Amino acid sequence: MYQLIVFGPPGVGKGTQAELIAKKLGLSHISTGEILRKAVSDGTELGIKAKAIMDIGNLVPDEIMNGIVKEALAGSSENGFILDGYPRTVEQARALTYTFSELNMGEVTVINLIADDEEITQRLLKRGRTDDTRETIANRLKVYYKSTEPVKQFYTELGIVKDIYGVGDVDEISKLLLEELH
Ligand code: AMP
Repeated sequence: MYQLIVFGPPGVGKGTQAELIAKKLGLSHISTGEILRKAVSDGTELGIKAKAIMDIGNLVPDEIMNGIVKEALAGSSENGFILDGYPRTVEQARALTYTFSELNMGEVTVINLIADDEEITQRLLKRGRTDDTRETIANRLKVYYKSTEPVKQFYTELGIVKDIYGVGDVDEISKLLLEELH
């Protein structure tokens, strides 16, 4: 049973690593960005609301995200889950702690992926998602440092963060990450 959070700035490789680890360990990969993009392409009420926010690189309100994640966790694999892109605010981290206790879930491990701003900006520009324009990337990084980075401190104080350098060969990084979990 694995209960993981993959954390780090936009473009650090959270999605790539989460997908590999989920496949390898048979976990539910819960990507809040993917859930929102699906809602946008399905044209749901959530999608319509989220699109305008995502297009400029701001954050979708906490109460919406908390509800989405609670539902996804309740339906996750018995092998466990890997959360990718959540929590992104200290408020979301607090709500997640509460959800864990409501669902009788135990300890979580936070994998903190590290890369510098120049590296991640270049990666995002190459990726070319609709929210990967220079302007939106700059705002997403600003939002990350202001609202999301404090989440790292929240978990560091609980002693559950593992730092992994996220630059280099994807499979090598994945191997390092798996070693940290065993
Ligand atoms: P991502 O795919 O994780 O880069 O997420 C893409 C966009 O979805 C972000 O820039 C936010 O606008 C939105 N988003 C994803 N996850 C969250 C979250 N936990 N809280 C608020 N907004 C989110």
